[in-house]
Amino acid sequence: MDLTIRERIIQVLRNTSKPLTVDEISSAIGVYVDAREVYEHLVHIAKSIRARSGGREYLAMDPPFCRKCGYVFRDLDKPRKPSRCPRCRSEWISPPRFIILSVD
Ligand SMILES: [Zn+2]
Repeated sequence: MDLTIRERIIQVLRNTSKPLTVDEISSAIGVYVDAREVYEHLVHIAKSIRARSGGREYLAMDPPFCRKCGYVFRDLDKPRKPSRCPRCRSEWISPPRFIILSVD
């Protein structure tokens, strides 16, 4: 049976040893998925794995940060890559990274 894109993303994020960017996720599942679409999948994945596992599993995000001044985007309303740093105006932004972790 073919797994849906969402299920494949979940598998990749469960098995990875380090948090991945949306580009890395897209290449790991072997299907080109637009970055914006991956972020949307991640929003749903965060909810569904928490519900399915009764809170034992969760999607963790390393927040994006500015590579020039080190500013960290801690207060994002949803997962995305900001286009510009509010502190130094640089567009050299490191995208957020994701991994599925479980509480044992
Ligand atoms: Zn900056």
